[in-house]
Amino acid sequence: MSSLSRVAEELKRGGRFLIVGHVMPDGDCIGSMLALSLACERAGKETVLALPGPVPSIYSFLPAVDRICVGPALLQRGAGAFSAVVILDTSVPERLGNLEPVINELRASGIPAILIDHHVSAAAYADLNFIDPGAAAVGEIIFDLLKLLGWQIDKMIATCLYVTVATDTGGFRYETTTAATHRRVAEFIEAGANVREISLRVFEEKPFKNMEALRAALNTLELSPCGRVAWMSLTREVAAGLQLADEHTDGIVSYGRMIEGVEVALFFREMDDGRVKVSFRSKNFVNASRLAAQFGGGGHPRAAGAVVQGELERIKAAVIEAAVAAVREEGQ
Ligand code: AMP
Ligand code: MN
Ligand code: MN
Repeated sequence: MSSLSRVAEELKRGGRFLIVGHVMPDGDCIGSMLALSLACERAGKETVLALPGPVPSIYSFLPAVDRICVGPALLQRGAGAFSAVVILDTSVPERLGNLEPVINELRASGIPAILIDHHVSAAAYADLNFIDPGAAAVGEIIFDLLKLLGWQIDKMIATCLYVTVATDTGGFRYETTTAATHRRVAEFIEAGANVREISLRVFEEKPFKNMEALRAALNTLELSPCGRVAWMSLTREVAAGLQLADEHTDGIVSYGRMIEGVEVALFFREMDDGRVKVSFRSKNFVNASRLAAQFGGGGHPRAAGAVVQGELERIKAAVIEAAVAAVREEGQ
């Protein structure tokens, strides 16, 4: 039996699931959680949803989004009696953030963890792991899972699934987008996903703070002498002055990649706890996941991230040097 069939068996058997995702949740993480939750509910099962951080406002239109609890507090009170914990789009346990201890406790009490992921850098840390780096989004895997189970998708589920694929493929532009991706998406649209409405909400409207953050970041834009690496940064002071939350800096890194000739774009965001969040994007050939792994992170071949302890300027210098070296070494 393939491990996706084993996941399907677990879902069929259980009655109550805890569904969780990663820190700084994105469209794939949130959409997959909601789609799975709605499908489980239609099949007569109960679900509890939790994320380590808040849902970005651009996703607040998603059906059933109010079900998501933020942080471990509610879980600590209502814990127990789960058939399994389903962890989505979360390549390493540290990315569960403040939910990690609660999940460890549940597992220690005998509740199995099921991981469904698509990162090349994913670790098989759960009791049952389904990791497919060929999937454009976890939402694709959820859709296949629902098909295996014979569970129908309705307009609400289709909307959530459409968001997972649209966001993780950068609007169907990355090379992870295949004919099979489009075939699945055709089914989402047939089931009622409204392409225009979703695109407006997710891609074409952002809070004003996103633009203020982008303006501040663009002021720091620099290019390596070889012209192949671009970077921007935001200090803690600037972020505090603009009262920025994590969601307001999402997507800034991709502006560096738009520059002609650039292969690697980097974005450095100084966090409140003295660590620096680094986003890595590549255009054609540099393995961003491998580059991020040099700094304790990971992700996908063209999009990766890391959280690094230390001082901003030193981290910047080290990461830029590694990126320039990667372009030189991996260049055809
Ligand atoms: P981001 O730069 O946060 O948009 O992340 C880009 C990709 O890298 C996403 O697919 C994340 O799941 C992954 N990623 C981000 N941060 C980390 C990290 N610290 N460790 C592993 N993967 C990460
Ligand atoms: Mn994600
Ligand atoms: Mn994903």
